[in-house]
Amino acid sequence: MVIRKLNIFTAVLTLVVGTFLAQAQTAERTAYVRFLKAGSEQMKAGDYQAARGSFEQAIRNNDAAFDGHLGLGIAFFQLQDDIHAEQELLRAAEINPREPTVYQYLGELYYRKDDLEVAVSYWGKAVELNPAATNLRTRLERIQKEQRAEKDFNRDVTSHFLTKYEGREKIEAGRIVLRILEDAYGTIGRALSYYPDHEIQVILYSGQQFKDVTDAPGWSGGIYDGKIRIPIGGIEQETPGLRNLLYHEYTHAVVRAITPQCPTWLNEGLAQYFEGKEVNPREQDTLRRISQAGMLPSLSNLEGSFMGLDNEQVPYAYLFSLSSVRYLIDTFGMYRVKSILDELGANADISKAINNGIMLSYEEFERGWKRSLE
Ligand SMILES: [Zn+2]
Repeated sequence: MVIRKLNIFTAVLTLVVGTFLAQAQTAERTAYVRFLKAGSEQMKAGDYQAARGSFEQAIRNNDAAFDGHLGLGIAFFQLQDDIHAEQELLRAAEINPREPTVYQYLGELYYRKDDLEVAVSYWGKAVELNPAATNLRTRLERIQKEQRAEKDFNRDVTSHFLTKYEGREKIEAGRIVLRILEDAYGTIGRALSYYPDHEIQVILYSGQQFKDVTDAPGWSGGIYDGKIRIPIGGIEQETPGLRNLLYHEYTHAVVRAITPQCPTWLNEGLAQYFEGKEVNPREQDTLRRISQAGMLPSLSNLEGSFMGLDNEQVPYAYLFSLSSVRYLIDTFGMYRVKSILDELGANADISKAINNGIMLSYEEFERGWKRSLE
């Protein structure tokens, strides 16, 4: 399962651009506003590289204005350039210390670096400045719970993973998890020719902690929300279930490292593929009947999160994802699937990514998949 973060900056920026436009007088100001506007449009379109360029131009025309530094800070943040992101966000905070968005992003930055204490203090400040930010307040409370849960956690590090867990009795469990993840790193890395260049965090919870910290739906065995979080009981040895779960969640981590904007059907299809899940004959039969009744959904309806689906829909959403992705891999090869991910990573939408990846339109691909079920 995968959880995506929401973007919160665009509304703020658009608003600020509007008010500033009215006051623009000098040529620099006009240029400043123009670049600011371009940057905010590029940001909305997900082109952070271009947005960075525009915000840099904006600052060159007016270094003393708040929004240019905020925009540039957010662009750097999205480009994973944490050092410059922090620099720009702090500069924005210096110019206008009363704007909560800055602290929200600073918190996000430290959360990503796993410095929960600093993250909590920035988010606390953001909530203080904007008590109406209920989403952020909820996240803050969640992270405080997470922080309390992790206080006494042990840490194990290998070259590619950092695991955290509570209790000495889990030391062996932690080792087992790391061993499996290193296997996944090799296997999935070879299949996709891709190895994330940053350490991936893995947090092992007791069953109850997992429920408290993640708010994951009851059907979820683990989640990936930037960190792999899984509930483990008293694991004493490797089991196929644990292996499948870790391969599944690690796939999400790899997909996220390649592109932040992967449609859920593709993401969950790949995760199930790499956990070794097959469409069994009974499921094949179910798919055939749904297909013959003309009731298969369009893949475009499976692009958003599965979190909101009800318990009866969930297994079908996963089955459609696995079936379409298996068809994609079997027909075009993993190499092409990787091209699709790369295209998404370069900001193409899914139609364009499929088109460039397999030389068929999204609709043609979908028709091919549905035909294969009949
Ligand atoms: Zn998943």
